[in-house]
Amino acid sequence: MTIEEVVRVAEETARGASDSVRVIGVTASPEGSQYAEIVIDIECALSQTPHRISIGVFRDAPRTDVQQAIGQRLRQHLQECDTPLGGN
Ligand SMILES: [Zn+2]
Repeated sequence: MTIEEVVRVAEETARGASDSVRVIGVTASPEGSQYAEIVIDIECALSQTPHRISIGVFRDAPRTDVQQAIGQRLRQHLQECDTPLGGN
């Protein structure tokens, strides 16, 4: 996938996960590497300011794998932040 396609997949997945998720951007790594990092802001229930997370993906992985990795991380974070247990 190109960086643009990764952004599109990330945005689609983010929209499906929650209204409070916003894709900030995708950073590519040095040439020759398929590794990319997706930067996402999440407006969490327990936080005044959005939480920023980054998710590492490989652009040569199947699209469904990338979607799954993003969705999993988002759900995990939303779950952690919506639960007053743990933390502090
Ligand atoms: Zn959070």
